Amino acid sequence: MRLLVATRSGHKLREIREILGDVRGLRLLDLNDAGIRESPEEEAVEAFETFEDNALAKATYFHEASGLPTVADDSGLEVDALEGRPGVRSKRFAPGGEDLSAQERDCLNNEHLLTLMKDVKLPDRTARFVCVAALVEQPGTHHLFRGTVEGLILGRPRGWDGFGYDPLFFHQRLGRTFAELSQTEKSRLSHRGEAFRAVRAHLRSAEAEGEAR
Ligand code: IMP
Repeated sequence: MRLLVATRSGHKLREIREILGDVRGLRLLDLNDAGIRESPEEEAVEAFETFEDNALAKATYFHEASGLPTVADDSGLEVDALEGRPGVRSKRFAPGGEDLSAQERDCLNNEHLLTLMKDVKLPDRTARFVCVAALVEQPGTHHLFRGTVEGLILGRPRGWDGFGYDPLFFHQRLGRTFAELSQTEKSRLSHRGEAFRAVRAHLRSAEAEGEAR
């Protein structure tokens, strides 16, 4: 079976490929492989207020564009002291980031977050990453898989790996930020790791059912 992994983020793609890469009989394609060029229309697809609605909208959009079974994720950071913000607006959190590169926008978002949290003391700096993966295998049917991971927002960035808010997101048990972990370590506990391991289990059981028939 071919599966389109519908994301423009190289970081997300690498994390997802690592998790789904060992499903027998599964060939993963990205948007370039499927010949789907980036368009302004795409940005407007994820305009909803929940990770579930956005993930499903993305998966449906790219399924219709490609005709392939498609998985897409919507993810973000929920900060308790900010009543759950930036949430589904995590990518476009800081004002003025529209024309920046992904890396520059990540820096601006992190600075904006630190500014908003400058008076919040450590016990109250709790947050979680959320990821919802939506799988659309054929028109009209879908499956949703959610993963979360709890952490604390540090007062300054630490580490050089990962992307987005990783340098500020501190995992208490490991005593490191997500930007101080290898990709494999991050996937073992991350929101995306949890959601896509559930996708993997679903694909494997569908494959086993197919073989038994
Ligand atoms: P999406 O492309 O709409 O799902 O936006 C996801 C945004 O949430 C990213 O641009 C990051 O700012 C943030 N985010 C999601 N997952 C992660 C992660 O694993 N690490 C760091 N930031 C993340």
